[in-house]
Amino acid sequence: MNNGDTTDSAASRLRHLTTYLREHPATGPAVGHNPNPVASTPLSLGTLSHVDASVRELTDLVRKANPAAGPAPSRADGIYDWAREQTEHAPDAVRQRRETAEYRQYLEHAIRAGDWRKVIRPHRCPECRTFGLMWQGDMQRALCTNTDCTDPDGFSTAVTLARIAHEHIAGRQSKKTSAG
Ligand SMILES: [Zn+2]
Repeated sequence: MNNGDTTDSAASRLRHLTTYLREHPATGPAVGHNPNPVASTPLSLGTLSHVDASVRELTDLVRKANPAAGPAPSRADGIYDWAREQTEHAPDAVRQRRETAEYRQYLEHAIRAGDWRKVIRPHRCPECRTFGLMWQGDMQRALCTNTDCTDPDGFSTAVTLARIAHEHIAGRQSKKTSAG
């Protein structure tokens, strides 16, 4: 079983976040005795609830697809292997939903760690198919930098992580299908 130690995956990214939380307990900016300035780092106070929400999303998805699924793992980063195992015999649509959620979370974890360039840039804009997506944290969207790629009001095409993940996983599936 690949435990994600050497690969860049949702599990390794989540492990990075949980390790960070252990080393920098999110006690809040008002607590003066914490020697680590938590709030000024890219991984700030929202990280704990982000980790919880990520685990909950996968757990809910699995329980819906497989009510007989055993207990979720106690380690947060074990959630992806567990979800994969528990939906192994589920219909294609369920497995694709699980893969898409895992990939979207991989993007979310990486962005939270300040790594958007590494994970967003390899994707083409779903509208114009060119490279050059840039992450906009305040919008929680990736913007296309192709000046010809705009909506009817002239605003740059804005793409959600859900859409990037969907296109990525759907593209991988159709490649698999056409290959055999
Ligand atoms: Zn575009």
